[in-house]
This record gives sequence, structure tokens and C-alpha cells, in this order.
Amino acid sequence: MNVQKINYQKEMEKILDELQREERVPRLLLHSCCAPCSSYVLEYLSEYFDITVFYYNPNIYPESEYEKRIEEQQELIRRMELKHPVSFLGGAYEKERFYEMAKGMEHLREGGARCMKCYELRLSEAAEEARKGGYDYFTTTLSISPLKNAQKLNEIGSRLGEKAGVPYLVSDFKKKNGYKRSTELSAEYGLYRQDYCGCEFSMAQREREKKEKEAKK
Ligand code: SF4
Repeated sequence: MNVQKINYQKEMEKILDELQREERVPRLLLHSCCAPCSSYVLEYLSEYFDITVFYYNPNIYPESEYEKRIEEQQELIRRMELKHPVSFLGGAYEKERFYEMAKGMEHLREGGARCMKCYELRLSEAAEEARKGGYDYFTTTLSISPLKNAQKLNEIGSRLGEKAGVPYLVSDFKKKNGYKRSTELSAEYGLYRQDYCGCEFSMAQREREKKEKEAKK
């Protein structure tokens, strides 16, 4: 069966247009994986929302990397001049939850079933936080990465949002040169850009690929 892909950027634009017509500035809980990915999303969405950046990433390995990313995230929020206020909310670093979820899928490559579960773990926490905090919407920066599956992220987010009673703001932030803009902003703010997704399995994959590349030279 030929399943037609939804253009989630266009879907989000419809919502943003509607908000502007209503002259409303809703509260958005924005799950963020790191400062570089959040840079463009903050620049874009702070025109429309009062944002709280939610840092919940129990997948990150090692702990020093986790600390680096969270500090960089807070620093970026302090430095960016944005239209509406942006605040920060740190989640728990529940490593054991990630390893429990990844059991039996450690060997899979980035983009496979482990990653779908990883999206779900992080988005379910964001949905719960959005429900508890009475937010109007929640979403994630993750769709900015060309390596992330935006269709799946939006399906998972929308399903979790329905369950939590908080609408998931669908997105595909890599569209409209979003990814390119995030690299420009990262350079402008001198942000640390990691070269692996985050978990120890993606780190090992990156090391393997580096070695394979070297061996071919
Ligand atoms: S590769 Fe990235 S998305 Fe996949 S499980 Fe690891 S941290 Fe999560």
C-alpha cells in the first residue's frame, strides 16, 4: 500500500496562522535534546509561544556528555534574545529507564526500533510534564535532525498527546532550511556540537564508522 507522507511543517504552519489570527500566545513545553537543535526551534517558535524548554534525555552517555549538553542548553537560553519569555525545566537523568527500554536492541543501528522506543520514552515524559504543568501544547526539537524520523516522531507525539490531554504540536523543523539555520546559529553562539546521537550504542557506531573510513583511505 502506498502511504502518503504528511508534510508536518505545513500542518504546523496552519496552527501558527490560527494562533496569530486569534492573537493568542499559548504555553508550549518544548522537549529539547541539545542546544544546537533547539537554537533554530527557539528562534522560530518564540514568535508564537511562551516556551519552557524541557531537558529530559536519559539516553545520553556518558554522564560528562549529559552535563555538557544541559549546561550548553541553559547558557543558550540565557543568551538568545527572543520575542516571548523562555524558561528551563530539567528532567531526571534516569539512565536505568533507558537501558531497560533498550534491552535486546543494543546492536541495532541508529534509526531502527531502539530509536523509536527512545523517542517514545522521552516524549511520554514530556507529555506527562505538559499535563501536570497545564501547558497548551508540547513538542520536541528532535525533528530538526535529518537522521530522525519525523513521521514517526509526529505519530508517537500525537498519540501520547491524546492520551495526556495536551495537543502535540506536529513539526518537521528540518524543512524550510531549519537544519541549516541551526548550524548557522550554533556557529554564531559558538555551541558545542556533538558528533553522535547520544546513547552509548550510537557512540560505538560512530567509532566503528570512523575506523572503517580510516581503513578505506
Ligand atoms: S541512537 Fe539516538 S535516538 Fe537512537 S536510541 Fe540512541 S540516543 Fe536514542
